[in-house]
Amino acid sequence: MENFICVQCGTQFAVSAQPPSRCPICEDERQFVRHAGQEWTTLKRLATDHHNRREEEAPRLLGIGTEPEFAIGQRALLLQSPGGNLLWDCISLLDDKTIAEVNARGGIRAVAISHPHFYSSMIEWAERFDAQIFLHTADRDWVMRKSSRIQFWEGTTLSLWDGMTLINCGGHFDGGTVLHWPAASRGGGSKAALLTGDIITVVQDRRYVSFMNVPVDPSGTFENRTGRDEWRAGHTYGIAAHRRAARCRHWNFDGVDLLRLRFLQAWSRHVVIAMFTLIIVYASILGALDLIRHSMMWRAVIDAAIFGGLSAWYFYFKRNVATYFRESAS
Ligand SMILES: [Zn+2]
Ligand SMILES: [Zn+2]
Repeated sequence: MENFICVQCGTQFAVSAQPPSRCPICEDERQFVRHAGQEWTTLKRLATDHHNRREEEAPRLLGIGTEPEFAIGQRALLLQSPGGNLLWDCISLLDDKTIAEVNARGGIRAVAISHPHFYSSMIEWAERFDAQIFLHTADRDWVMRKSSRIQFWEGTTLSLWDGMTLINCGGHFDGGTVLHWPAASRGGGSKAALLTGDIITVVQDRRYVSFMNVPVDPSGTFENRTGRDEWRAGHTYGIAAHRRAARCRHWNFDGVDLLRLRFLQAWSRHVVIAMFTLIIVYASILGALDLIRHSMMWRAVIDAAIFGGLSAWYFYFKRNVATYFRESAS
């Protein structure tokens, strides 16, 4: 019996004799299944050819990521706080060296996770360090390995110790959560920090943040949900804040798609389809009247049919795009 880990997303599953038949997280539109098909590993196997690197992000803030890159390049952050350490987000690999390193820094009191792409091996971590796990209840269906260590919380905020607060921002996932770490409990003259996973992504030049799949004005949503101005002034630690950390790859699909479409009216997709239909009709008429060569007619018809079909799929059947147009039409 094993707790199998999905190679693509890094999620560890409930114990079973055989690898699970599918990974619901990878089959979800926010992730993807590898071209080679679903693959599985175990913690033991993973530890044979991977190790964890540790990097000091800031005083009392340790980044832990796996090398060579595994799954979607997740990174966990260990916040060292007087009332007990918090592990923000999680990774799949937990080995002896990492355990020793974390213990040397005071262990882990609790694990809090931004969204299901970071659930990874959270139960392993929680059991090893005798810690609790805080997950937002809106994402509870995405938990693949159940445990009494998981405490599901509801509502907009959850206060932890030392002034740390979990905030439900929604967006990427309904339960999408960020963590506020106030300046007072960081000490050492550090500013307040906002830890975001990829719920809010730190863009390349590190001066700006962007939101993933947040349906209304990002700053509005954020301010409304939090109601605190001081959060603007602090530091934001997202997985992309780190040069070597990978982003969730689906960002490229959902985020950019919708960014590009934002200026398009709901009716504009019909124009695209009408255009390809017109090419087919026009080429057929010219061909029938022998005004163009038939080979040319067929090429136009076939090309227009292929590209028209692809466009129709994209605008009418690709889930997030179709939803976008449906909503902007109503
Ligand atoms: Zn998966
Ligand atoms: Zn994600």
